[in-house]
Amino acid sequence: MEFNTLKDMDFNGKKVLLRADFNVPIKDGKVADDQRLLRTLPTIQHILEQGVKQLIICTHLGRPKGKVVEEMRVTPVAQRLSELLAEDVKKVDFVLGELPDDLIVMIENVQFEPGERDNDPEYGKKLSEYADIFVLDAFGQCHRNYATLTQIQQHIPSCAGFLLEEEVRSLGKLLENPERPFIAILGGVKLETKIALINNMLDNADNVLVGGAMIFTFYKADGKEIGKSIVDDEFVGEAKQALGNEKLVLPSDVVIADEFDNNSPKSVVSVDSIPADKIGLDIGPDSINEFTRLIAEAKTIVWNGPMGAFEMSNFADGTLQLADAIAESSATTLVGGGDSLAAASQAGVLDRMSHVSTGGGAMLEFLSGKTLPGIAALAKVRQ
Ligand code: ADP
Ligand code: MG
Repeated sequence: MEFNTLKDMDFNGKKVLLRADFNVPIKDGKVADDQRLLRTLPTIQHILEQGVKQLIICTHLGRPKGKVVEEMRVTPVAQRLSELLAEDVKKVDFVLGELPDDLIVMIENVQFEPGERDNDPEYGKKLSEYADIFVLDAFGQCHRNYATLTQIQQHIPSCAGFLLEEEVRSLGKLLENPERPFIAILGGVKLETKIALINNMLDNADNVLVGGAMIFTFYKADGKEIGKSIVDDEFVGEAKQALGNEKLVLPSDVVIADEFDNNSPKSVVSVDSIPADKIGLDIGPDSINEFTRLIAEAKTIVWNGPMGAFEMSNFADGTLQLADAIAESSATTLVGGGDSLAAASQAGVLDRMSHVSTGGGAMLEFLSGKTLPGIAALAKVRQ
């Protein structure tokens, strides 16, 4: 899908509206993790270097759902951004209104307006009137049909920021032209949000290694006892279909415990002999070995989702050891997903990945082969 990028635009003397994804954690009135700000900094710096008349920045924060929620004001974001840029960022307390003429202005949380999530064309048009050019860099939100992601492009010349461009290039390459063997390692907890990705990876990749709580739905589909392990009953049918695909690799052993509790005594069993009163909380050592072997042979690796309940140290081995194996590999490696990034960071391997996606849901949908509304709207208006 072709869209304009920053290099296609002339920002000199123009007013520019930037939609970023600065949905960052706030603690005690301060930004607690500024990764998302750092990732969009190159876009902001590029725009400023081009001699813009004004840069207006917008983001959402939390889920205020169309109302003003005091603790979801973007004031701490503007403050942190100002520190990172070493420039004043004038924060205004409204989304729509009369803007001051400071060089950099940040408007209020766009989800304070109901028009945002309603994808209201009128609201989108009003926002577009702030500027001559629109820059979309909020990759992590592009799967949403919301006004600041899909409407503004329809009124003023628009382009992707560096972050969005890089995400689409890196993820697109995996679907179009991956170096093989290409493996996907998929884990986590909600099969509902991942089944489309598993199916698309079964089409595109050479092997799909599945871990996490999702495996128990597959075992159930296979008629195995899964004890008290998490299961997505509505997806047993779809899991059963995937079972027939020889690219699918499921763990052969699991770590079980009495309870979902780090102090619960643990043991390792074959997936064919999970006791009815136990819960499966991690993949076992044989599975780690087999997955590690496939990782070592791969030339392209996509990883989303922890292999076990890694927040508890007794059930983190599968996730942390695979994180190490992925980091060791010479393959092109991509990791994405909120909990996966936390796990990779805990394993100390984030900076050894070829690409760290900022998109959770957006990345999952992109890699599932779906068209993201925000990107489609950008592509439609490419001049
Ligand atoms: P991501 O955010 O990377 O996409 P998910 O949100 O899908 O990942 O899943 C992460 C969660 O899955 C973690 O909180 C982890 O504890 C949980 N999880 C993984 N394996 C298990 C398991 N066997 N039982 C219970 N929870 C699990
Ligand atoms: Mg998650």
